[in-house]
Amino acid sequence: MSSGADPFDLASIITAHDDGNFADAVVPPIFQTSLFTFSDYDEMITVYRGEKVRPTYTRGLNPTVRAFEEMLAKLEGAEDALGFASGMAAISSSVLSFVEPGDRIVAVKHVYPDAFRLFGTILKRMKIEVTYVDGRDEEAVASALPGAKLLYLESPTSWVMEAHDVGALAALAKRHGVVSMIDNSWASPFFQRPLTLGVDLVIHSASKYLGGHSDVVAGIVAGSKDMIARIKAEAYPYLGGKLSPFDAWLLIRGLRTLPLRMRAHEASALEIARRLQKLDVVETVCHPGLANRLPAGLNGTSGLFSFIFREGVDIRAFADHLKLFKLGVSWGGHESLIVPGEVVLQQKAQPNSAHAFGIHARSVRLHVGLEGTEALWRDIEEALAAASQS
Ligand SMILES: *Cc1c(COP(=O)(O)O)cnc(C)c1O
Repeated sequence: MSSGADPFDLASIITAHDDGNFADAVVPPIFQTSLFTFSDYDEMITVYRGEKVRPTYTRGLNPTVRAFEEMLAKLEGAEDALGFASGMAAISSSVLSFVEPGDRIVAVKHVYPDAFRLFGTILKRMKIEVTYVDGRDEEAVASALPGAKLLYLESPTSWVMEAHDVGALAALAKRHGVVSMIDNSWASPFFQRPLTLGVDLVIHSASKYLGGHSDVVAGIVAGSKDMIARIKAEAYPYLGGKLSPFDAWLLIRGLRTLPLRMRAHEASALEIARRLQKLDVVETVCHPGLANRLPAGLNGTSGLFSFIFREGVDIRAFADHLKLFKLGVSWGGHESLIVPGEVVLQQKAQPNSAHAFGIHARSVRLHVGLEGTEALWRDIEEALAAASQS
């Protein structure tokens, strides 16, 4: 279906390496250091006066982290980007940079559960209100926007995979003078570049596809120089959720294979979703690629989707008989994973987002990894056969 858009010079981005400062190394060095010293008093004072920008302390600026930020900014078509220690650090620092007590946020339904919980706990105590709207209903979004400060988007969402017309929603926000922000983790910049669709800020859980190997927890936000400067001024240094140099280095490595991985996730997941749709035991498959066409601006689909079993299927037996699909909550790595909805519905976290998140008790979420379509399909068929005998 897709190729991933190529308006940017993908080749120069993913092959980026040091420009001669470090013996022309193909891979930038890891600046595993907390601080950088000054040559003399004069240099120190020019840096403190802001007349010269150079690393001082890693919570502020670190060259390895900066290299990753620059790569991601280019991939998203952004002027600037800021790396964080997790996707949630990127979300909380970005949101808190644009709202204050008494303000209101408009958010689409079914956002990532911990974002929902951030809104329902810390922000609620700060007297920041959140109105949830159906992102597919542009009239509902338009009527919720007047007086709001922030439009918080996630598309596609990460359980029911609802895909919105991001450009249309961004235009509505702009018309009402509302800052827009999107969690773009599902699509990755390879399949969706929200800034080119008019969104102000794009956020990723880099723990997912950007890293791609399930060895990093990290986040990033990208946008205009002015908007990133606002986050950089307060929330970034004072909340202090800084991305570590080693993790940034792993992310640089991950980004180099992003196009290859995304195409492979897309092909396998779409084929498996189509085959599941034909099974008698399956009621509905939630995968944006099964619709007649994708929303404008979404140029492909990733490896994460869910489906709902018909009544009577032993989901526990199915999950336990899978060999390649492991029971596990994250996604975006090389490995295939399954999460049964009935397990998530048991979660004790407050506020309990399981229902708000759109999780059906007979649904399971799959992340289709890189093991190969036929091996994964065989795994599913064998687990279904075993489950029907149990
Ligand atoms: C995992 C995830 C997050 C949070 O990212 P962390 O790196 O785990 O903090 C945010 N949004 C989505 C859609 C996610 O899947």
